[in-house]
Amino acid sequence: MTANSHGKTPVTLLGLGAMGTALGHAWLADGHPLTVWNRTPGRAGALTAEGAETAASAAEAVAAHRLVVVCLLDDASVGEALADADLTGKDLVNLTTTTPAEARARAVWAQERGARYLDGGIMAVPPMIGVPDAGASVFYSGSRALFDEHHETLAVPAATSWTGEDPGFAALHDIALLSAMYGMFAGISHAFALIRREDIDPVAFAPILSDWLTAMTAEAHGKARHLSGGDYTKGVVSRLSMQVAGIPTFLATAEEQGVSPELLTPYFALMRQRLTTGPDAGDEDLTGVIDLLVGDVPEGGSRTGRP
Ligand code: NDP
Repeated sequence: MTANSHGKTPVTLLGLGAMGTALGHAWLADGHPLTVWNRTPGRAGALTAEGAETAASAAEAVAAHRLVVVCLLDDASVGEALADADLTGKDLVNLTTTTPAEARARAVWAQERGARYLDGGIMAVPPMIGVPDAGASVFYSGSRALFDEHHETLAVPAATSWTGEDPGFAALHDIALLSAMYGMFAGISHAFALIRREDIDPVAFAPILSDWLTAMTAEAHGKARHLSGGDYTKGVVSRLSMQVAGIPTFLATAEEQGVSPELLTPYFALMRQRLTTGPDAGDEDLTGVIDLLVGDVPEGGSRTGRP
């Protein structure tokens, strides 16, 4: 099927959970013909009321249009849903959250079935989808030709962000950012736990905490500069040796406040471990912890460029 009289590309959408339904509303509101399918029937009501066609099977939905968007629970559900579909000549866009390896394997799987493949990682919750300036974005990776050809349609529910031809990169960016978010949530949890039993209003404390975290996000750029330059001691203002010396204060404060330190202790352990890896490690900041995580500590200790 080709574009409608308004020039809008028709879309097939598999999966009408919270996210799929939000995507469907956005395309319909923008005038795109939409054919939908969901494993459990009866979830398309609101979309069909707005003009969506409902397919009786995933294979039937896939047959309806060239551009096929999948937003299901996980990679296994994508395989199950598309098992009987003819993907020959299709442009498959998979917005299901997966691992990078699953995305790469799914790309090969789709190409073997005659489809072009684009993977996506959604950085938004459903109420942000299709809402201008809400901040929703989707990382994409895989077929650049597919991305370019359908960019206008893909940009309807959320801003698009290209991460590369490696089909695993969208998922990798997605999970990397969400992992950083959970680390931040862990820190926020510990901070609120510390004040929990005191006469400190959490509502008054929140903006103080939020402003501090915002100021500290510059650290991402600092770490990137160290990683790309290789000298982890360059421009360091908070030396690792100083920070490790401060750890007992953090642990004692947690004990005084009756708070478990369990969210902090794994990170403190890595900081201490890094300090033992070489003579220059104490002059670094915290970038060396990254090498400990990937098991990439160069022989002789820190990466100062010195022998
Ligand atoms: P929901 O749990 O609301 O919906 C899951 C969807 O997957 C339903 O349509 C469900 O069908 C379908 N499904 C599950 N298992 C199978 C299967 N074996 N075969 C076919 N269909 C199956 O999830 P969301 O819509 O919220 O999320 C969808 C994707 O979007 C996920 O990968 C999620 O990580 C991602 N995402 C979600 C966000 C959110 O905030 N909701 C944010 C960012 C990404 P049925 O109705 O039959 O159960």
